[in-house]
Formats: sequence, C-alpha cells, structure tokens
Amino acid sequence: MQSRVDVDLALVGGGGAASLVLAALDRHGVRDLRVAVVDPVHRRGQDRTWAFWDRPGSDLDPLLSASWRQVEITTPAARRVLDLAPLRYAMLRSGPVYARAAEAERRLGATRVVAAVQDTHDDGDRVLVRTGSGPTVRAGWVLDSRPRPPARAGRTSWLQHFRGWWLAADRPTFDPARAALMDFRTPQPARGVSFGYLLPVSDRYALVEYTEFSPALLTGAGYDAALAGYRDLLRLDPSRLTVREVENGVIPMTDAPFVARPSPRVVRLGTAGGATRPSTGFTFSAMYRQADQVARALAAGRPPVPEPAYPRRHGWLDAVALRALDRGSVGGPDFFDRLFARNPAERVLRFLDGTTTPGEELAVMRSTPLLAMVAATAGDAAHRVRDRLRPARSAPPVPAVVRDGAPPHP
Ligand SMILES: Cc1cc2nc3c(=O)[nH]c(=O)nc-3n(C[C@H](O)[C@H](O)[C@H](O)COP(=O)(O)OP(=O)(O)OC[C@H]3O[C@@H](n4cnc5c(N)ncnc54)[C@H](O)[C@@H]3O)c2cc1C
Repeated sequence: MQSRVDVDLALVGGGGAASLVLAALDRHGVRDLRVAVVDPVHRRGQDRTWAFWDRPGSDLDPLLSASWRQVEITTPAARRVLDLAPLRYAMLRSGPVYARAAEAERRLGATRVVAAVQDTHDDGDRVLVRTGSGPTVRAGWVLDSRPRPPARAGRTSWLQHFRGWWLAADRPTFDPARAALMDFRTPQPARGVSFGYLLPVSDRYALVEYTEFSPALLTGAGYDAALAGYRDLLRLDPSRLTVREVENGVIPMTDAPFVARPSPRVVRLGTAGGATRPSTGFTFSAMYRQADQVARALAAGRPPVPEPAYPRRHGWLDAVALRALDRGSVGGPDFFDRLFARNPAERVLRFLDGTTTPGEELAVMRSTPLLAMVAATAGDAAHRVRDRLRPARSAPPVPAVVRDGAPPHP
C-alpha cells in the first residue's frame, strides 16, 4: 500500500456533505485538482432520506424520489394546507446522491482511502491527515465532515430523533400530491415536541415517520409504539401494509457552537461545521449551498472556504427559540402553527433555511408568542454574559447516527 498520498484537497468524511462537494466539483468543471476522500466506510445505497425545500429546476431534479407543491401542518385544533409555490418540498434518497458522488469521484480521478482519520496536523501550508490503517494524506486543504462535538456545551442540548417506516400498501392508499410535513396530533412528550410525517412517493408507497424534538432518545420499542400509534391515527390498516425499510436518525438541536474553521487550511462541513439548523434539524439545504460555494471557489482558483451555514443573527434567534421550547414558555405545536398561520409559507421556509432578510425575520418573530420569547431572550442574554465571564466547559459528545442493524458511525 502507498504510505503517503499527496493531494490538493482531502475530503475527510465521505457522507452527505462530502458527496455534495464531489458532485459540485464535477458540475463546475473542476479538473486538474488532486482530490482524496478518506472515510472508513464507502457510502453506497439507501442509508437515509433527505427532505428539504427548494425551487424546482436544480441539478437535483433527476435524483428526487418525489416532490410536493402542497404540504399539511396539522394540530389537534386545525389542519392547514400550505401552497409552497414558488418552492416545493422534495425528497431525495441517499442512493442517488452517493451514486452521483461516485461518478464525480471517478471523473475527478480522486483517490479513495478507506480508513478512519486519527488526526489532522495543519502547519499553515499543508495539512497532514493521519489514518489508522491507511496511508497518510498530505493535502493543501482539508474539508472535514467527521461527526464531532461542539466546541463547548450549549445552554440547550436537544435532539431531533426519529424512526421512519417505508410502507408498501396492497392497494391505492396514499395521496401522492400532498405530504404531511408536521402532524402534531401525536401524544406530546412531557418535555419536548413530537409530530408525525407522511411522505407518499406513490399511492401505494410512503415514508411514515415519528419524530421528537426533546432531550433524550426513546427505546426501539418506544419508537415502534409511537409509529404504530401514528399509523392508527392516520387510519391506515396494518393488515394491508408491509414495512419494507426502517430508517432511524438522531440529529443535534443545540445552540452550542460548531467550529467551522478549526485551523487555516481545515474547513468543517456538514453537521460538524454547523450546517444543522438548531431549531429544526434541517441540514441538507445548507450543505448543498456550501458545497456549491466550495466548488465555485476552487473553480475560480480561490480557497475552498464557504460562507457560514447561517447568518449569525439566526444563531441567536435559534438559541432563543430552543430555550423557549425547553423552558415550556412556548408550546411546540402552537409555535409552529403560528409561524405558518401568520406568514406566507415561502417566508417561513426561507427563514428556516437562513435566507431571509432582517425585515422578514422581524415579521416572522412578531408572529410567534412574543412575551414568552422576550422572557426567554432576557434569560439567553444573561447566560451569554455569564458564559463570557466563566472558563470554557467541556462539551458533551455529539450523538452518533444509529441505523438498524448497523453500529453507530465511528
Ligand atoms: C436518517 C437521517 C435522516 C436525515 N434526514 C434529513 C432530512 O430529511 N433533511 C435534512 O436537512 N437533514 C436530514 N438529516 C441530517 C443531515 O442532513 C444528515 O445527517 C447528513 O448526512 C449530514 O451530512 P454530514 O456529511 O455532516 O454527515 P454524514 O453524512 O454522517 O457523514 C459523515 C461521514 O464521516 C465519516 N467518518 C466518521 N468518522 C470518521 C473518521 N474518523 N475518519 C474519516 N471519516 C469518518 C462517516 O463514516 C460518514 O460517512 C438526516 C440525518 C439522518 C441520520
């Protein structure tokens, strides 16, 4: 085996963020760049489903499993049908994303190193990437998307955790024209928010999910019971359904800081780089945006440093919202219901993606329970001051992604 690989760019971690970077490099015609991808697992096939909103007409169109112009938000009190135009809600399974990345990798002539990275050493000129069982990689730049904890503990450390069943029905059962984005009729946990999700890809095939935003995970049996309850709430007859696949996920929802640039030539991407929106867990759109920025920069001969995943002020808004939810000063279903009831859907979705103007954000903020938010904000400001005066605490580990039958990510 080669003992050292010299490249211009090393992708450390080859999951969602890195796959989107590879595809973007190919799309922007970047050639003559020596690239290595280092990951102990060569990702292939379906290991997750991404749902996100965007405008139709992107290069993702041919890869989508489904997309919806209309989605539903349901609370025990009301069902709201939202027309998302000019946006859409889209579903992308990991298989086509990894396949496109593999094709890009081939066209870029990238070197694949199937080994876990132990550490990176950045001397300001080159970065040495040491692997346990594979060669050492010397790179001009490193894009690091290995899962890692935030730099220090946050004031609120919630998790978005979920289980989904891919259900096949023996007769037309689902309405493929409409997705249930958040259905809050599920029993609400003592601390946190829960909701169901129904994403039909055809009249006989759909992803049904049970999701919680809360501090702690359920047991496997707990997720199954919650999902069965949601299936019954949808009046789906289990005797006519087969569970074809099971999907589990855990995503951090925290105001703890993720460091996006730990050293001059190392850039963190994906969840590790702060691409996960703390108030929603949505990550895909920011990863896609940053992958495009990285590729454009390299195509123009500039360093592969993307803009921050979200504007700074959004970090503050998210911290406030998380704190208010955690304290119970706003109820989750009520919070999301008001957001969508009092704003055009497109504004809320762009807000959640971090692409609204300050004026639009003010309008969004006004539509949430103001007094509770202000109280939470005052608490947040006091904590900020206290944190600044206090030495750094150690951070809790970021939860690993657990899939059925598979060990957590290394
Ligand atoms: C089941 C699931 C569903 C999700 N659905 C959505 C969704 O609908 N919408 C949305 O916006 N977000 C969603 N997310 C959140 C987010 O988009 C994904 O987690 C996404 O895959 C994050 O990309 P990433 O590159 O940061 O991490 P990953 O895709 O997890 O990639 C990290 C990579 O690092 C590798 N690695 C680990 N240790 C090492 C090491 N020592 N050396 C080298 N490599 C290492 C891993 O093997 C892995 O391939 C979902 C997450 C999960 C788990």
